[in-house]
Amino acid sequence: MSVADSLRESVLAELRKRIDPSTFSTWCTHLQFVPSGADRVQVPLPNEIYRQWVERQFRGPLEEAFRAASGHPIALDFTAGAAPGDSAPWPAIQAPAADEPLPPPVEAPPVPRVPRPRLNDNYTFENFVVGPTNRLAHASALAMSESLVKNYNNPLFIHGGHGLGKSHLLQAICHALWQRYPDADICYLSCEGFVNEYISAVQNRGLESFRNRFRNADVLLIDDIHFLSEKEGSQEEFFHTFNALHDANRQIILSSDSPAKDIPKLSERLMSRFAMGLEARIDPPTYEMRVAILRRKAELRGRAIPDSVLDFIANHVTTNIRDLEGAVNRITFYATLTHREIDVPLAQESLKDSFGYRAAPITIPEIQQAVCEFFKIKISELMSNRRSRAFSIPRQIAIFLSREMTDQSLADIGAVFGNKDHTTVIYSVQKIKDLIPKDDRIKSAVDGIRTVLQRRFSR
Ligand code: ADP
Ligand code: MG
Repeated sequence: MSVADSLRESVLAELRKRIDPSTFSTWCTHLQFVPSGADRVQVPLPNEIYRQWVERQFRGPLEEAFRAASGHPIALDFTAGAAPGDSAPWPAIQAPAADEPLPPPVEAPPVPRVPRPRLNDNYTFENFVVGPTNRLAHASALAMSESLVKNYNNPLFIHGGHGLGKSHLLQAICHALWQRYPDADICYLSCEGFVNEYISAVQNRGLESFRNRFRNADVLLIDDIHFLSEKEGSQEEFFHTFNALHDANRQIILSSDSPAKDIPKLSERLMSRFAMGLEARIDPPTYEMRVAILRRKAELRGRAIPDSVLDFIANHVTTNIRDLEGAVNRITFYATLTHREIDVPLAQESLKDSFGYRAAPITIPEIQQAVCEFFKIKISELMSNRRSRAFSIPRQIAIFLSREMTDQSLADIGAVFGNKDHTTVIYSVQKIKDLIPKDDRIKSAVDGIRTVLQRRFSR
């Protein structure tokens, strides 16, 4: 795939989410994008009539699609009379008479009675990278996708921060179930969708069909259930939906940005229902997962990214997977616009305004300082050879974070920590790595210090 093709593909993928399918296939597959300088793209159309019409219909969604695909705003110039290399004829629009209004927007096709929700084709199990921080959520989701028969873990409640793969997993379950059971009534929607449909059912006296729709589902998946917070009416309705499905042995799968007990203003009884099944938490990805995810995203975009650049992104974008994707999009987009190879300097340039990445990397003394503040010990104690746990654990954490957050070699790190040799550095890094999954206090110390450092040194 050429560079221009990969750019076009990702913009069209974003545009597809914003336009109804028939309009998309009639019009948007003809669009060409010609980079014309940094952050500018030309959209050539066959003549002035098309130019006006396409611009009027699609400027808004296209600008959003470019922004989503590249992570930053791109100026669009719609031009007439110069569509290079587009051999397929454009669909006809009637030339309007001088005082006649332009043709109306293309109507959306009639909505089927029980619409299958639009899912993201990429949100599949094959495209989901598994690692220590999402293994349980992944394994549980996979188990749910294997049969329609209710699992003992009902509901499955997946929770975790923004951009960590909750929607991806829920949609992967839908894709897999549809493949196995094409006729199954699998009901997937966002909690916001549930609330909106409930409100309009109440307004239009449509409660009965609303209830039938949900209570007859074979599987109900609701994304972002924390949206029920403070919405008493919707909570009440969902409580009955939940009970009806649960009593009928139908599987319920929910996602949330926090554990059920931390959703503010959620009724006690819903909270206890949500805790009845299996709770699976997703944590931010480890370095190794970040690299694997970046590699997969680059492959999906048909774009090879050198290992040094993957390492650079994985070291600087540590928050969540959506940000990792944003970084890949931004870098590939920037390379396309500037006609340059993807390398570390280009990655530095294209990420410098985003993701809290700062051009000057964090230094080891800054890490030492943050660790001492966290554990309330002195720098001299951190640097000493004292073996008591009160000093050795902070020292090992500082060494671990120095390895993770800076580009220094093992020998350099050893030198800064009071002339320790590189085997001590390796030992410390390994020890903390081993302790993180086993010891919650170590894990939260490492996470806490890392967050402090990222905040302190971003922007
Ligand atoms: P959430 O719903 O938790 O906010 P999403 O499911 O929307 O997050 O994920 C954000 C982006 O990150 C999506 O594009 C998704 O495909 C990607 N993503 C999340 N987790 C993974 C993973 N483990 N492997 C590959 N891609 C992932
Ligand atoms: Mg989501």
